[in-house]
Amino acid sequence: MAATSRGTTPVPPESRPRLTVLSGPSGVGKSTVVAHMRKEHPEVWLSVSATTRKPRPGERHGVQYFFVSDDEMDKLIANGELLEWAEFAGNRYGTPRGAVMERLEAGEPVLLEIDLQGARLVRESMPEAQLVFLAPPSWEELVRRLTGRGTEPPEVIERRLAAAKIELAAESEFDVTLVNTSVEDVARELLALMDVV
Ligand code: ADP
Ligand code: 5GP
Repeated sequence: MAATSRGTTPVPPESRPRLTVLSGPSGVGKSTVVAHMRKEHPEVWLSVSATTRKPRPGERHGVQYFFVSDDEMDKLIANGELLEWAEFAGNRYGTPRGAVMERLEAGEPVLLEIDLQGARLVRESMPEAQLVFLAPPSWEELVRRLTGRGTEPPEVIERRLAAAKIELAAESEFDVTLVNTSVEDVARELLALMDVV
């Protein structure tokens, strides 16, 4: 078993799920790991979520997220266009259903980077999905990363850390935990779990 993973049960290749969900507390390094993985393997398809959160500097519509208004989010939900959605730290986030289903029907591996509530909803609707939890090496390191990123004001950091306590307590609901000590190691392990390499 790889040094950074725990709770891994080997799954035979023929029964590997094609939908992988990556979750973990805000600031643990999900986006960093996924970006690193896709730099070397651009063929890995990542679902782009819709969100009511405002873009951070450098974020672009249609790349990191589809940035939508509250009304637009209401419509996406009412029209059944989201596979799952959740409210996280004061904003709503959801996975567009159509693009995910197209990829899955084509037999391609699909990656969702979503919060704990979303992961639970996917587990209910798609029990074959593989749920991966990204954990920090320690609580102190998580606080350091979230604060050090410098993208949220103190009160938002507090909300995200409160959510992080809940998310960390749910680790056992996931199929696999990867501890984000090294971005390179975690990206490699995630690719292996997705059966890409
Ligand atoms: P998330 O997407 O989970 O909210 P980010 O990918 O934005 O988290 O990472 C939060 C911060 O932690 C960023 O500043 C990033 O550079 C840093 N980071 C991510 N992974 C590591 C790591 N393995 N070691 C040190 N810093 C990391
Ligand atoms: P951030 O604002 O830091 O980009 O994301 C905040 C949280 O929302 C993260 O835990 C991220 O994984 C989650 N998230 C992003 N997109 C979605 C989504 O489509 N659905 C759900 N449920 N959570 C999402």
